[in-house]
Formats: sequence, structure tokens, C-alpha cells
Amino acid sequence: MINPDQTIPCPVCETKIPFDAKELLGGVKFICPSSSCDATIGLASQSKPIVQDTLEKLESIKS
Ligand SMILES: [Zn+2]
Repeated sequence: MINPDQTIPCPVCETKIPFDAKELLGGVKFICPSSSCDATIGLASQSKPIVQDTLEKLESIKS
């Protein structure tokens, strides 16, 4: 089950991409849900700064 708060903005179209932090850290890539965009979010991609930033925000919410 995906927490609705765990979304990351697509670097291409800014659509919110739902993701699971554990899976993301495990190397799983998440595909933008927009039908006109096939961007993927993953730790190994150029989107890493966005991922890092989002994970840090999630951490600060948790604690
Ligand atoms: Zn997109």
C-alpha cells in the first residue's frame, strides 16, 4: 500500500509520482503516471537530487 503523502514531482512534467521510499532506496524505478510522459524516477538517475530532497522531507515529517 502506498502512502498518498509519498509522492515526488516528475522532473519533466511535475506530475506527482507516488513512490515507496524503501523500494526507491532498493533501486526500484517509478514511472510518471502522466500518459504523455514516460519519465522515470530512480536513485541512479539524474533525478537523484530530487529524490534526496524528498526523502529528507519525509524524514523530517516522521520524526
Ligand atoms: Zn512526467
